[in-house]
Amino acid sequence: MKPKPRMLKAIKQGQHMLEQAGITTARLDAQLLMCHLLQRPRSEMYIGDHPDITPDQYRRYMALVRERQERKPLQYITQTQEFMGLNFRVVPGVLIPRPETEILVERVIEIYKEYYGQGFVRIADIGTGSGAIALSLAKYIDRCRVWAVDVSRIALDIARYNADVLGVGSKVEFISGHLLDALKAQDIGKWDIIVSNPPYIESDLIDSLAPEVSRYEPRQALDGGSDGLEFYRRIIGDCPDVLKGGGYLALEIGYNQGPRVIGMMNKDFEDIRCFKDLAGHDRVVTGRLKNSVQWSEDRC
Ligand code: SAM
Ligand code: GLN
Repeated sequence: MKPKPRMLKAIKQGQHMLEQAGITTARLDAQLLMCHLLQRPRSEMYIGDHPDITPDQYRRYMALVRERQERKPLQYITQTQEFMGLNFRVVPGVLIPRPETEILVERVIEIYKEYYGQGFVRIADIGTGSGAIALSLAKYIDRCRVWAVDVSRIALDIARYNADVLGVGSKVEFISGHLLDALKAQDIGKWDIIVSNPPYIESDLIDSLAPEVSRYEPRQALDGGSDGLEFYRRIIGDCPDVLKGGGYLALEIGYNQGPRVIGMMNKDFEDIRCFKDLAGHDRVVTGRLKNSVQWSEDRC
């Protein structure tokens, strides 16, 4: 009888195949694909005697490795990405949340604590994708209501699904529409905080990004126009129409966009600050819309 395939041997083979495809995280990815297949935690890869897997499991594992070999992002294969300690479902057509974006969420939580105390706030997340920003804020800020805007239907479907799984569905409104126009169309007054991680890659640079990004992630989530700044112009320019005087705008930016985005905000905003990511690059800009603070009348 043919010996049953051993789990560890299969992982080694997977690692080798991924190395051949130029994937620098080959060992980790080979392990994570096995964890995904067996629905076991990664800690089990290091303990015990690495059990047999069935020939069928081996065949299915190899199919997953081949998908990754084609440079499909691991997260689209496992359909999940952790963000702010929460699990988000992601599928092709929806941007995979990035760890840098946690800095943006953390800044908004800080702004809330510093300026709104325990007050109720209306927050809008422009270009919500999987809902990573909107749903984390709904989870970590008790007294808030969040409006999550996107043009992508797949994104809104996935964000709604994530909201239900995370138990914040009742605090979030999903709006299909274009940037701040989608908020204006609600005709329900202004917002306290507007947050966005808009597409910000220069159009011409997208094809030179890692194949995981350029071939698999939605262009609509990445392409910020010829200079990468198109969405900042529109969002910053339209803010006075939908953001309360004294309200905050918080934006994720590309590593070299800080001075230009701050330049655009100088006219209408004060208390403008720029925050760096763990790699030391400018990553988040926040500012307060000039004018006196108008406190929200809304209740949860
Ligand atoms: N907020 C998510 C995150 O941080 O993981 C996704 C950010 S992704 C960089 C930008 C998002 O903006 C995409 O989901 C895309 O569909 C959406 N988007 C692109 N153009 C838009 C527009 N004109 N109006 C609203 N959303 C738009
Ligand atoms: N940080 C993403 C990347 O470099 C880009 C996301 C965006 O355009 N907002 O792949």
